[in-house]
Amino acid sequence: MSGILGIDLGTTNSAAAILEQGAPLVLPMSDGRYTLPSVVALREGHILVGEKAKRQSISNATNTVFAAKRLMGRSFADPQTQRAIDAMPFTCIGGLTGDVRILLGGKPLAVEEVSALVLATIRKAAEQHLDREIRRAVITCPAYFNDRQRQATRDAGAIAGLDVIQVVNEPTAAALAHGFHQGAERRVVVYDLGGGTFDVSVLKVGGGAVEVLATAGDAFLGGHDFDNRIFDWLVAELGAKHGVNVAEDPDVSQRLREAAEAAKIRLSDAPRTNIAIPFLTTLPNGDPLHLDATLDRTLYESLVSDLIERSVGLFRDTITAAGLTPADVQEVLMVGGMTFTPAVRARVQELVPCPPSAGVHPDLVVAVGAAVQAGLLTSDSSASVLVDVTPHNLGLLTVAGLAETVIPRNTRVPTKVQKRFATVSDGQQVVKLVVYQGDSRKIAQNEVLGEFFLEGLRPAPRGEVAVDVTFAIGVDGAVAVTALDVETGKAKEFRAVRGTAKPEGELAEMLTRHQQLLLTVV
Ligand code: AMP
Repeated sequence: MSGILGIDLGTTNSAAAILEQGAPLVLPMSDGRYTLPSVVALREGHILVGEKAKRQSISNATNTVFAAKRLMGRSFADPQTQRAIDAMPFTCIGGLTGDVRILLGGKPLAVEEVSALVLATIRKAAEQHLDREIRRAVITCPAYFNDRQRQATRDAGAIAGLDVIQVVNEPTAAALAHGFHQGAERRVVVYDLGGGTFDVSVLKVGGGAVEVLATAGDAFLGGHDFDNRIFDWLVAELGAKHGVNVAEDPDVSQRLREAAEAAKIRLSDAPRTNIAIPFLTTLPNGDPLHLDATLDRTLYESLVSDLIERSVGLFRDTITAAGLTPADVQEVLMVGGMTFTPAVRARVQELVPCPPSAGVHPDLVVAVGAAVQAGLLTSDSSASVLVDVTPHNLGLLTVAGLAETVIPRNTRVPTKVQKRFATVSDGQQVVKLVVYQGDSRKIAQNEVLGEFFLEGLRPAPRGEVAVDVTFAIGVDGAVAVTALDVETGKAKEFRAVRGTAKPEGELAEMLTRHQQLLLTVV
C-alpha cells in the first residue's frame, strides 16, 4: 500500500488510482464516475469543478475554463498559447512575469491554480472513498512537456496541498499499467488520442525499465476536432434544408456540439446513429426547427479521415525517429477515449503487425500506471528505472537569427554535446550566447531559456577565434551551457533556471487564494 495517489491530469478528463494491497484501484469521483472532466467554472459566486462545471458550460461560456493544460507552463506570448486562446471562449491575459492568467469572474488566476482546483477535487474524492488523508501524489504529463511545463504541474499539485513525488510521462505510465516493465525487452508504441491532444511515443520496455526512445505530438488534434466535423456537417445539413445558419447562436451551437460528441461515441459501437434535437431553434418564419439526422459510419469516417491520417503520419515519423521500422514494434498501446473508434484502431493495425492492446481501459490506463509507479517508488525492491529523452531541440541563436541545434530532440539524457563556433566579425571580443529550447528554425517560435556573454576574446580577423560551447543535460533534466575561449581557456557557464522561477511569495499567495476558492466550491 503506497498511500501515494496516481493522478492522470488530462486536457479533457482526469482520473486517479492508488495501489491497495498490491493491486491498482481506480478511484470513483464524488458522482460515482471514474473520470472527472478537467473543467472549472464560476457561477453565482460558486466554483464548480468537473461534471457540474461541464454541464453548465453552455449558459456560462465565458466563466467556464476547460483544456487549461494547453496553457500549462507556457508564456502568454508563445504562439501555441495564442492559438489555444483563440479557440477558447473564456478570457486570458498576460501576467506580470509573462505567464498566462485566466479570468474567472474578472479575477486573474494562474493556470496552475485552475488545475489545482481539479487536483483538489480528485484528492477530496479519493480521501472520501478511502476514508484517509492523502498527501502525496505521482502526476502524469505528456512526454513532450518541457521543464517549465513539468514544474507548473508540480506547482499545481503543491497548491492543491499535494507533495508531488514525481511527474511521470503519460506513455511511460501506460506501459507500467500493462506491466511492460517486467519481462523481456520489447518495443512498444503508445498511441494516445484524447479529447484535445494526440501523443505518440516509442518505448523500450522490459528488464525493470521503461525508456522513451522518441516522442511527438499534436497539441491541437483530438476528440474535439472529430466532434467539430460532425458539428460542421450538421450545420451544413440544416443550412441546406432550412436556409439558416444555426452556428451563429452560441446556445444552439453548444447543444449541437454535445449531440455531435454523443453521436461520435455511439458510432464506435453502432454502424449508424440518429441525431435528434427537438425544438433546436426557431426559424425566421416562427416555426420550430427540429433536428433529425442520420449519420452512418462510412460518412463519419469520410468526415474525419484526414484527422486520422494526421495522427498516422506522426505515428510513422516517431517510429522512424526511434530508429525503428513498423515491423520492429511488438506492442501498440491504445490510450485515450478516442481509441475506441473502430476506424482509428483499424488504421493503426494496418501499420503495425501486432493487434492494438486491450486489457486496461484506455481512459484509465494512465492513472493506473501512475499508481503503479507510486508503488514502485515506495517499494524497496526492483524500483523501475525511467530513462528519458529530451523532448525538444536545445541550441543557440545564430547571428542570422536562426536556431542552431546543439542537442537534437529525442536524445537520451543525461547527455553532453560540444560544438565549436568561431567569431563572425573582425576584432570581435565578445560573443553573446542565447540558449533556446524548441523545434522551429525561427528563434521567435522557440522558448529562450536565457542568455550570457563570453568576453575578452583576442581581437582578430573574423573566424579566427574559436569558442567551444558545451550543452549538458543532467538526469533531472536541468540544462547547463558552458562557453570556452579555446585560446585562453577562459570559460563562462550558464544554468537554465528550473521551472517557472515564480517570483518570491507567489506560490504562497496562490495557496492562500486556493483555500479561499475551496470555500466556495459546491
Ligand atoms: P480522454 O481525454 O482520454 O478522456 O478522451 C476523451 C475523448 O474521447 C473525448 O473526445 C470523447 O468524446 C472521446 N470518447 C470517449 N469515449 C469514446 C468512444 N466510445 N468512442 C469514441 N470516442 C470516445
